[in-house]
Amino acid sequence: MINGRLNPTKSAGIGLVKVVIQQLDVQSRWQTILQDSFSDIIHNVAQLWPDEQSITISYRDLRNFDPDFAQSIIDNPEVHIDAANNALNQILRDEGYGNLNPMVRIIHLPKYQVRTVSTLRVDDIGKFLAIDAVITKISAVRPRIYAATFECMSCGAANHIQQPNEQELIEPLECNTCEKTKSQTKFVLLEHESVLVNSQFIEIQELPEQMKGGLQPERIQCIAEHDLTGNLTPGERVKANGMLFMRAQRKNGKNTPVFDLFLRITSVERENIPFEEVQISEEDENYIKDLAKREDITDILIRSISPSIFGYNKIKESLLLQLFGGVRRLNSDKTTSRGDIHILLMGDPGVAKSQMLRYMSLISPRGRFTSGKSASAAGLTAAAVKDAIADGRWTLEAGTLVLADMGLAAIDEFDKMSENDRSSMHEAMEQQTISITKAGINATLKTRCAVLAAANPKAGRFETLSDVPFTAQVNLAPPLISRFDVIWVMTDNPIEEQDAKIAHHILETRGKGSIALHGDIDITFDEKNEKKNGDEMILDTELIKKYVAHAKRAVHPILEDAANQAIIDYYVQTRKKGGEAADSISITARALEAIVRLAEAHARIRLSPVATVEDAQAAITLTRFWREEIMGGEFDETTLHSGKKAKARDREKIIMDTIGNLASSGGGQCKRIDVLNHLEKYNINRDTAEDIIDKLVESGRVFRPGGYETLALI
Ligand code: ADP
Ligand code: MG
Repeated sequence: MINGRLNPTKSAGIGLVKVVIQQLDVQSRWQTILQDSFSDIIHNVAQLWPDEQSITISYRDLRNFDPDFAQSIIDNPEVHIDAANNALNQILRDEGYGNLNPMVRIIHLPKYQVRTVSTLRVDDIGKFLAIDAVITKISAVRPRIYAATFECMSCGAANHIQQPNEQELIEPLECNTCEKTKSQTKFVLLEHESVLVNSQFIEIQELPEQMKGGLQPERIQCIAEHDLTGNLTPGERVKANGMLFMRAQRKNGKNTPVFDLFLRITSVERENIPFEEVQISEEDENYIKDLAKREDITDILIRSISPSIFGYNKIKESLLLQLFGGVRRLNSDKTTSRGDIHILLMGDPGVAKSQMLRYMSLISPRGRFTSGKSASAAGLTAAAVKDAIADGRWTLEAGTLVLADMGLAAIDEFDKMSENDRSSMHEAMEQQTISITKAGINATLKTRCAVLAAANPKAGRFETLSDVPFTAQVNLAPPLISRFDVIWVMTDNPIEEQDAKIAHHILETRGKGSIALHGDIDITFDEKNEKKNGDEMILDTELIKKYVAHAKRAVHPILEDAANQAIIDYYVQTRKKGGEAADSISITARALEAIVRLAEAHARIRLSPVATVEDAQAAITLTRFWREEIMGGEFDETTLHSGKKAKARDREKIIMDTIGNLASSGGGQCKRIDVLNHLEKYNINRDTAEDIIDKLVESGRVFRPGGYETLALI
């Protein structure tokens, strides 16, 4: 039995003897445990070698066998892990598998050994512990020498030297046979006779949920070896189990008294349910289910989105749908269709874009807030960089979209993102992956998150959209803009009545804010997380987060036939309208998918497994609304795709539609003068209108059934 804190590498007199004896004790104990209880999995690994190179053992089992033994693993992990590996190899040798050397990996450490990166302390050094974190960086996998064999150039003898230090290769001081010193002979490394293992640097970062306050998340470097290398990708949530050790920081080739902490990873546990970090009690769940049954739940939730921001109800509704998201689907050809809803807020300064983005990142599980011009090398997507901490190796660092995988990435100043991000953003938003092949690193990172982006107009403020299309007013390429499911243009137009209301609202919430001591929004809640003061009910941020996590985890709505039909009808009709105006298409298949996602999200709010006609209708209404807001009644998606102003084409379309509408209520034809009067509403003056009508008649799309004063569509 191990007691105390013996360091097995300490090499002096009695200490060494004691350690060796104890190590043998520990090893024989391990051998018994492995033989008695894990012979099946040992047999398996022997069969599956080299595809499988380790066996995994639960700490809980070990504790059940022998609590003291289990505790000594926590206290002396290095001794135990060596002993366990040796015991395993001995068993295999005894059974005739002499050339295999799998490892023992212990998982499921007790709760009291689980840390976050920022809670690691000196007392943890040398102990076996688990760190809950997200992987932010990986280096290329490289061989590392554990035991080096040197040949003495004088006498040819082989010298074996252990290599415990990552930073320098230790050569023999003198030859073990001819006793010549380093300066009298030369030692040549025999790579083939040295013990090499694959090794990789991995950086992990604490989770946003674990952070206290608005500080930067803390990170720690880890070292992974053997079959743990090449298996982890940035963005993954893991529990990294291992031993914490320190290494002196080096300056000018010398050790300094300042140390860095490292984790030697001995096993990794991946998250087994989505959003494991959001803990939902049974009571929470029941309460959420009750809320979901309420008829006004959608309204309650809309009100709960940025309650301190006045108005913007339709925008808030779209943000709510984004929060819940549609369903990610696997197609029969193995490709996937994203379920996440991307939203772009373009607007004048000071219209509360940033404010809403921050709020959304706060209430979304795995929400992240960042700015397009963020200073980090990884930026929004990912970057391969040479990293000093990983001994100058190439490392792959995850950006915001990767870290927000399964959640929401709120990106302010989206129009200011780097060129690197611009080029990988399409793939990141549509395929929801980022592929990187650089300097020995091949990785596909997952970016399955909803993107909520805000952008300002190039000129500082938006010009009237009917004069200059919004695509020409922001520094974003049309193909990128077309990746968004919903686009809002928020202009800061003075409207007296509205302004008075906003001013009132701002001052009122400010007043409440000064009373609330802490909390993310300026409103007080009772024990049920509902707003008190007799006003309309809204929900608290933590409750919304739980609600969303539960819905995304448990509910995957499917559109009922009638809902499908409603969307198809809308799509066909809208396209037909566009088709009539000659060369323009008013809605694309991409928009169709967007509506489906919105409908699914709408059903998810009610925790309904079926998206009904009403859900589809809500999605269609919202889609109509933003399209009309942005371009007036005649939103033309080709403008979005080509980036060109289809002004003349827009006017043609408006005129054709007007003639069509008036004619349909006038027995198939209408009066020229009525059409011209009508068109004034669209700011099309008479001269221009008459010119265009002439052209339409010339090209045969409009005719004059009863002479010059009458008009009708063909
Ligand atoms: P933007 O990012 O669009 O430039 P901000 O989010 O920084 O704008 O908002 C500027 C300020 O104006 C914030 O303090 C915000 O709360 C306030 N504000 C703007 N519009 C509203 C509104 N409709 N209701 C309440 N506050 C608003
Ligand atoms: Mg802003």
